Amino acid sequence: MKYVLVTGGVVSGLGKGVTASSIGVVLKACGLRVTSIKIDPYLNTDAGTMSPFEHGEVFVLDDGGEVDLDLGNYERFLDVTLTRDNNITTGKIYQSVLDKERKGDYLGKTVQVVPHITDAIRNWIESVSVIPVDGKEGPADVCVIELGGTVGDIESMPFLEALRQLFFSVGQHNFCLIHVSLIPVLGVVGEQKTKPTQHSVRELRALGLTPHFLACRSAQPLLESTKQKLSQFCHVPVGNILNIHDVPNIWHIPLLLRNQNAHDAVLKHLDLDRVAQTPNLQEWTLRAEIFDNLTNSVRIAMVGKYVGLTDSYLSVVKALLHACIACSLRPEIDWIAASDLEDDSAETTPEAHAAAWKTLRNAECVLVPGGFGDRGVTGMILAAKYARENKVPYLGICLGMQISVIEIARNVLRLERANSTEFDDKTPNPVVIFMPEGSKTYMGSTMRLGSRKTLLQTPNCITAKLYHNSEYVDERHRHRYEVNPDMVPKLEESGLKFVGKDESGKRMEILELPDHPFYVGVQFHPEFKSRPARPSALFLGFILAASGQLVQYLKSPQNGSL
Ligand code: GLN
Repeated sequence: MKYVLVTGGVVSGLGKGVTASSIGVVLKACGLRVTSIKIDPYLNTDAGTMSPFEHGEVFVLDDGGEVDLDLGNYERFLDVTLTRDNNITTGKIYQSVLDKERKGDYLGKTVQVVPHITDAIRNWIESVSVIPVDGKEGPADVCVIELGGTVGDIESMPFLEALRQLFFSVGQHNFCLIHVSLIPVLGVVGEQKTKPTQHSVRELRALGLTPHFLACRSAQPLLESTKQKLSQFCHVPVGNILNIHDVPNIWHIPLLLRNQNAHDAVLKHLDLDRVAQTPNLQEWTLRAEIFDNLTNSVRIAMVGKYVGLTDSYLSVVKALLHACIACSLRPEIDWIAASDLEDDSAETTPEAHAAAWKTLRNAECVLVPGGFGDRGVTGMILAAKYARENKVPYLGICLGMQISVIEIARNVLRLERANSTEFDDKTPNPVVIFMPEGSKTYMGSTMRLGSRKTLLQTPNCITAKLYHNSEYVDERHRHRYEVNPDMVPKLEESGLKFVGKDESGKRMEILELPDHPFYVGVQFHPEFKSRPARPSALFLGFILAASGQLVQYLKSPQNGSL
């Protein structure tokens, strides 16, 4: 196994994840099989309990792992299916060591950070890196490891020490360290400053790790003199100083790296230059260029709770992008804080209320994404009602599907105070109820997580056609509540159809409103499996409907050409 470690210095938010996945893309384009590991030095066991406000979206894997959103980038960029173990956290490592300690595995020894925690980290990396993630057999050729946080953080110390030991044991030709750093410019026509990078490299070297490559983030391309200076002070050959300057869209980054011959240098370092081919990045080039030259756009209203931080819905945004590119449209996402649509807001914040409604009315389609808690639910119900009554394409994901059910129950079926028991546990009409797969009492296992089968019930519906009439689909889940199976016959009296159910027939997975151009609610999250070259069928249908192309497409979806 060859390891490519990506660390970050100077500031957080440098796009280390995108840099690391782009390096993976270029190596994959050279014919190598690539896997990845993301290390998050925080103490949480996983990202499941972390707020999307603070940390961005919780990404869900096939195996139900709730992980950092960077794993989503790896899955999308490398087109792989990762496992929960591909995300290492301090919490997981300590838990494994403490479990062993309780079992007496350390034979009375003092359990310490070095060597016990560092050994656990090394063993974890070595065993996870060989898990195949690309559908083929046997381990990948290269494992890209991204160390979260910034070098110098107290939390990352045990990881850096473990990685130093790993480097020492596997040797120079099996380990390559790329340090991502920032080259700021002070003033308008100022100089490119190398000092922060010098400091962070010094910090790394003090820990026994010397970077083989620098990946420097900058607004403008790096000057030759800046590279010379970096090389001299950071002990990195000029040819190994890569520059990731600002580009119009992230799909340019693998191209940028290829243009600087990053792959040649990395492959040479790893002794892989003889087995690799010249990189084939045709598809990436095409996509990056198509996106830069899109002239027509589609306005999408996203009505959610966490609209302040767009990373909170990162995979939804990416899935919209993939679908839009397939339709040659530029996505114009209008974020609407659901609570601004509510009647109360007309009194307390009239301007925000008016602006929110104006934005909603201007949109060509409405998306209500997943969420937890009751904030903004009333506004989401209003948005779903607006989309239903005005025949505006609607896609409700997870909470968004539950919202449709509540809305229709209240406004079409006139079921008094119809609600989800998540928001009103005394409702006389519980149309959405708590239906955990696991324990009802132990919080940690009440969530229905990961890939589950949805059987498509009727071939004659939009969803089945979009999924090319497959018998079933495997999509990822992350929820506790579901449509109340006892109320399904009543709900269907409204015209609503549950066109997808789980294998037991008790869990409603997909709903549609037949007399509507596109009104679809799904209990699962189709966004997690969308890929740049393979947009999610439902997002594609949603964007086609918004741009008036769905009817035509459904006549010949097999052609796949738009
Ligand atoms: N809060 C809802 C539930 O737990 C929806 C979850 C979601 O949208 N991911 O079922």
